Amino acid sequence: MTRILIAEDEPRIVRFLVKGLQAQGYATATATDGVDALHLARTGDFDLMLLDLGLPGMDGLDVLAELRNQKTVLPVIVLTARTSTDDVVTGLDGGANDYVRKPFRLAELLARIRLQLRTEQRAEEFVLHNGDLSLDLRTRQAHVAGRTIDLSSREFALAEMFMRHPGQVLSREQLLSNVWGYDYDPMSNVVEVYVRYLRNKIGPERISTVRGAGYRLVREADE
Ligand code: CA
Repeated sequence: MTRILIAEDEPRIVRFLVKGLQAQGYATATATDGVDALHLARTGDFDLMLLDLGLPGMDGLDVLAELRNQKTVLPVIVLTARTSTDDVVTGLDGGANDYVRKPFRLAELLARIRLQLRTEQRAEEFVLHNGDLSLDLRTRQAHVAGRTIDLSSREFALAEMFMRHPGQVLSREQLLSNVWGYDYDPMSNVVEVYVRYLRNKIGPERISTVRGAGYRLVREADE
């Protein structure tokens, strides 16, 4: 679950944020002064922080500066009531990832949050490639020579297993335990059945049968 730290001292705004964020499925924690905010932000328990600049105890900009001094990479969206663009520039220079002006609409804030969380995840590999075959781990679709192919969840899991091991022979037992789980009947022919389904969808020539050993995704050069 994505955890968001709310550093804000105005109870009305805190209630609004907690309610709005929890309704979207985020977990929240609140700090109502700057010292607490800094302490919680350092714990590493959060995926993102919403940071009010006007906090008692320690100013939001100081909290931010301190975090970045310590090389904390937590994404920070600054909430500012201050109208001066200088504050915004200072905030962004000080390591804020984005800012939202008060009063803000929840929809706008949510959009900014999603953007930050996506940016964080961009480093991960979301798409597996093998020649002109690709598998998108987010949409759970395959793309074959530019065509989009929908896969059932089992077909997808099987395709993912092959795509993570291109050119390797995968035994029936390996496929069963990875795609169907350890308690599946080893005498079952589900592997054969699903390999056939997958071949029908992505092209029969892409998965070769290695007699007595298993199946192999034919490794292809990158496009
Ligand atoms: Ca405030």
